[in-house]
Amino acid sequence: ADLLDARPGEIVFTSCGSESDNAALRGIAMARRAQSGANRILTTPVEHKAVLASAEDLQQLYGFALTLLPVDGNGAVDPADVARELAGGDVALVSIVYANNEIGTVNPLAQIGALCRAAGVPLHTDAVQAAGKLSLSVSELQVDALSISAHKFYGPKGVGALYLRSGTPFVPVLTGGSHE
Ligand SMILES: *Cc1c(COP(=O)(O)O)cnc(C)c1O
Repeated sequence: ADLLDARPGEIVFTSCGSESDNAALRGIAMARRAQSGANRILTTPVEHKAVLASAEDLQQLYGFALTLLPVDGNGAVDPADVARELAGGDVALVSIVYANNEIGTVNPLAQIGALCRAAGVPLHTDAVQAAGKLSLSVSELQVDALSISAHKFYGPKGVGALYLRSGTPFVPVLTGGSHE
């Protein structure tokens, strides 16, 4: 929680980074649709499979619309493209990788986060490759959900975490028992 500038109650431990990404995509998309009817997921073609395959699953099996934002020659997202898509409405969730796992591109999350916040749409980021290298302050980055994985920054395999900002709509992975 200190590393993320978060409160301990906003950290959910998972079995890996992939589980954290999967839970964020499904949990937030489902809850947002239930609450507001928003039915579109906005992400990029350069996400890790843990995000991209989850988004495709939500599209194919659960009827969400999927919009893949363009990226430039370096693999970066232009905040102007996010703004344009948000203006189109119906967005349940935005998920954009912080540092790309294949080519190292760092996305301008704080700018994207400000746009999402103004539109009232939750922003998730896969920060697995950023941990230990870049600031993970969720207040600076203006993200509502963030995924990390221990084995990418000298921790053991089999441990990940999902930061979930207090109040973010979320359908839990386990619906019972409540102690879990
Ligand atoms: C490694 C990685 C993951 C998956 O993390 P695991 O703990 O191995 O499941 C997700 N996203 C990115 C960007 C990664 O580099």
